[in-house]
Amino acid sequence: MGNLTQIDFDFSEPSNRFMCNLKSGTFVVLFEVDTPARERDFELAVEQVRLMVKALDKSRGLETGLAMTDRLESVNSWNAAEFARRVLKEGVRDRHVVYVSGRGSSKEDIADMLGRCAEAGLTNVVPVSGEGYGRGHRQPCFDSCNTLRLIADSDLYRSLLPGCVVNPFKYSANDSFPQYFKLVKKLNFGAGFVVAQTGWDMMKHQELRWYLDSRELHYPTIARIRLLTPETVKAIMSGVMPGVYIPRKFGEILNREGEYGYQQFAAAQWRRMQLQAAGLALLGYSGIQIAGISSPEHMMTACDRIKEGIREFHSFEKWRDAYLNHMANSDMAPPEHRFYMFDNLFQEPHAAKPHFSPRAPDKCGTIEKLHYKLCSLIFSRDHLLSPGEHRLSKKLFAGCPSCSYCRLPLCHYICPETCPKGLANGPCGGSRPDSRCEIRDKPCIHERRTRLALWLNEVDIIEERHVRHPQIAAKSLH
Ligand code: SF4
Repeated sequence: MGNLTQIDFDFSEPSNRFMCNLKSGTFVVLFEVDTPARERDFELAVEQVRLMVKALDKSRGLETGLAMTDRLESVNSWNAAEFARRVLKEGVRDRHVVYVSGRGSSKEDIADMLGRCAEAGLTNVVPVSGEGYGRGHRQPCFDSCNTLRLIADSDLYRSLLPGCVVNPFKYSANDSFPQYFKLVKKLNFGAGFVVAQTGWDMMKHQELRWYLDSRELHYPTIARIRLLTPETVKAIMSGVMPGVYIPRKFGEILNREGEYGYQQFAAAQWRRMQLQAAGLALLGYSGIQIAGISSPEHMMTACDRIKEGIREFHSFEKWRDAYLNHMANSDMAPPEHRFYMFDNLFQEPHAAKPHFSPRAPDKCGTIEKLHYKLCSLIFSRDHLLSPGEHRLSKKLFAGCPSCSYCRLPLCHYICPETCPKGLANGPCGGSRPDSRCEIRDKPCIHERRTRLALWLNEVDIIEERHVRHPQIAAKSLH
């Protein structure tokens, strides 16, 4: 199996089974379960998921668990901690993972979720900032970085092991670097493991491992993969899963697989999932989180296929050739961008000699530099302005409202309120393949902030500074 030297993380809670598996290098398979929307019957949903757990209990030869998502199926879903508590038996809850979403959440909502998790023994939590509400809608989210700080700063949550999410499937340097800088911030804020967003480009999966290794960040990583159906392919292609990307060539392969009927399509997806799982193990991933499987029978099939796949491939080269062949050697990058952090990916499994790509984010333009200098001049004398002048200067120079807690000086004078999710600590994972914001047809605000930080030689500030969230109130542009 893959390179397990990654696992020298300091685990101080030996009783946590998930954590022990990560520590020992046991490959973990998590099945993703969406906490149901409130219009679905809670008890019925609990019973359905209990059947999945029963099936997993019978599986042998793999460490398995559930990954309960929070407000992913619907913003108005049942409480994820409560759902997980009802589904999972006491004493074994530390095998599983619960997501804590900041989607439309206040600090109190998040504290309540964390408290419920801690009380119920749901030790493994993954804070995420949360999904947007679709194009054009503004919906502030409680940033995952703020949740990580809440966990780190309070004794109430000492039993929790937080993880974090990153989206490595970004294809321009402008879009990719901010993702990695935010990942490092989350690790600095106490995340103990990393979950990679869904994708099929295994070179990007390798890029994430090499990036962490190159910075000596030896954290366990789990890759989220998805068993596709024709319906989910359509949904992804139409953009309803922000940050999940099927490139044109891969889309053509999927269409061809669909031409021979549902059975053939399903068989091709099982094989793809098997190949991905085997490759991720070889690349040093500690496990996978599988989305798109909701029946106990399919879970058992998945476990069998994964075991077979891991047994089938002992050499990275043999696996790589099989995977590339299965993907018809198609380019997984979008036509407009083709950025990979390293030039020698896929030549060897581990980064003995990683060749960094010379490509970096765009340099700051003259107008951006002037704007920064002007803002630092005006806002450093903020206290000399009358409230009216203060409001006007913010509107004119930062394009933002006047908040009671102004974060401009902490964010290189780019107001986080101009991000539709109000994220101040770095980007979400949802930007489109052309690197524009998932919600507004504009570049992500964190691209510009990264350019400024690079120009000012302040990347360490981006990776270390905690920008607190003022209490958020759910509001919409419409
Ligand atoms: S501006 Fe960036 S961080 Fe904010 S919602 Fe858009 S893509 Fe996400």
